[in-house]
Amino acid sequence: MAAPSASVPADVDVAIIGGGVNGTGVARDCALRGLKVALFERNDIAFGASGNSSGMIHGGPRYLLYDPDVTYTSCLDSGHIQRIAPHLLFRIPFLMPVRRHAGSKLELTGLDAFFGLYDRYQPLKRGKPHTRLTGEQLGRLEPGLTGDLAGGIAFDEWGIDGARLCIGSAVDASEHGAEIHTHCTVTELLRGPDGSVRGLGYADRLGGGTGQVTARMVVNATGAWSPITAALGGLPESALRLRPGKGIHVFFDRRLTNFAIAAKAIDGRQVFLEPWQNMSVIGTTDDDFYGDLDDCVATVDEVRYLVQAVARVFPSVRDARAIGTWAGVRPTLYEWGRNEDELSRDHRVVDHAEHGAPGLVSMIGGKLASYRLFAEEATDLVAARLGNGEKARTHLSALPGGDEQLDPLELARSHGVDPVAATRLEYRHGSRAPRVLERLERARSERAVVCPCEPVLEAEVRYVVENEWARTVDDVSRRTRLGLGSCGGMRCAARCGAIVAEMTEQSPDAGRRMALDFLEAGGRRRLSVVGPAQARQEALLLASVRASLGLRKEPQEV
Ligand SMILES: Cc1cc2nc3c(=O)[nH]c(=O)nc-3n(C[C@H](O)[C@H](O)[C@H](O)COP(=O)(O)OP(=O)(O)OC[C@H]3O[C@@H](n4cnc5c(N)ncnc54)[C@H](O)[C@@H]3O)c2cc1C
Repeated sequence: MAAPSASVPADVDVAIIGGGVNGTGVARDCALRGLKVALFERNDIAFGASGNSSGMIHGGPRYLLYDPDVTYTSCLDSGHIQRIAPHLLFRIPFLMPVRRHAGSKLELTGLDAFFGLYDRYQPLKRGKPHTRLTGEQLGRLEPGLTGDLAGGIAFDEWGIDGARLCIGSAVDASEHGAEIHTHCTVTELLRGPDGSVRGLGYADRLGGGTGQVTARMVVNATGAWSPITAALGGLPESALRLRPGKGIHVFFDRRLTNFAIAAKAIDGRQVFLEPWQNMSVIGTTDDDFYGDLDDCVATVDEVRYLVQAVARVFPSVRDARAIGTWAGVRPTLYEWGRNEDELSRDHRVVDHAEHGAPGLVSMIGGKLASYRLFAEEATDLVAARLGNGEKARTHLSALPGGDEQLDPLELARSHGVDPVAATRLEYRHGSRAPRVLERLERARSERAVVCPCEPVLEAEVRYVVENEWARTVDDVSRRTRLGLGSCGGMRCAARCGAIVAEMTEQSPDAGRRMALDFLEAGGRRRLSVVGPAQARQEALLLASVRASLGLRKEPQEV
């Protein structure tokens, strides 16, 4: 294949479409290798699967059965991710209880042997070896576990905030010269007379207007949207085939357990309840998805399926307060005739030269846990095409905030802020947390807690608007978890909207509108867990607020 000609002038070396973990990962890798990069994301960074995953930087013991290479690469990359972003990783110790039945002893022996095999991969990700437990030990560790338990297994995983991981990559890419354009939909792929892809056209959804960027290479990292993106350049449907898989999670107020609990669903699938940040999450489903990728929300059926499974071993989940759901679509590699759970989680870099479109590369499949390796593989191909001989440094160079571990209590003391707020801030920003808190010396008012559930200080809201491309309340929420607590944003969205509007030089009405948009979207995602009566009340309240303020809902164009 002919290399893109260096003599053809282009605005950038590489244009990347998609701001998920793979797009931001490639942007960072390319920028660290000295390439000129522009990234375009239609919504917000981490809007897609990357911000709606289970957030596990794991090896996935399940994949050991039919895809051991994926377990190996995920564990290996998990080790790298831990080194570059230690502040974002947290341990998730799992308990897998086994109910007593005729074959339970044999089942436990099988599980013990199986996790013995998984233990061989654990050192790659600094994981601890598994332990076989008796029913009594399980009950002592997690008193909420019920039923006649024959015993169980304890094993070790890691969790992460996927959105913060993507933001970290985007910030680092930008600090190495990349341009990051959020809320910009790529609407066309520019093709030269020889069929080569030479750039893209985009529409700015918030700012208005359209534009074009010429690029020597274009990377399609749009996850489940990838076939749609490839079609923008006139590529045939057969050029990229995926098997999109919808997954949902339900989240509950506060941490219900100390350990994550693996449970079997009615169809034998493994699901889980995990303490995740300051809440509890149950997940996840994996169902072939034929719907609208831009409108993917949890249904009542999916929620009941998960609650039923977890309640079988941890019944009090039924009494816990569910406060929301999230849903995403996996960009799983295409395969016919296999059950969703058994599909490979492997990834693939597709060079569309083979489809007559040199200059375009797509990234499909993959996992959060092996994103860095996937990005490295895609960047290797792009760099080779561009004659760039630099090697990847993304496993050696820390993500922003990952270079030094700070003591949050010391931060709280030295800046006079609430220790919980400082701890959460340090989790999200690592060694950059002082940059947020230094704002308090210039403006004491930024000490105000905007979101009491998380909690989030006004200083952090302003920091993410100034430094992390947050342009709406929803964007702030994705970066800080503002509005995701038990009040559903009722106590913070309006204030956050006012701050964002003021900082982005918009009217107070625009601030109120984005607050209402955020609350309505959250309400819609809560519908399947709160039931029709509460949902009706919420909708009525928000509609009356919107009407009393004389605000119309803005139509979404692109
Ligand atoms: C429910 C669920 C649970 C999961 N759990 C785990 C887990 O625990 N561990 C793990 O390792 N992996 C997990 N995964 C898999 C992992 O999340 C995905 O493989 C990964 O996030 C895919 O990243 P991506 O960047 O390819 O896609 P995405 O994150 O979906 O990003 C694609 C982006 O492209 C943008 N886009 C689309 N069209 C355009 C356009 N025309 N112009 C500009 N931008 C566009 C979208 O807005 C989106 O932000 C899970 C996935 C799901 C859905």
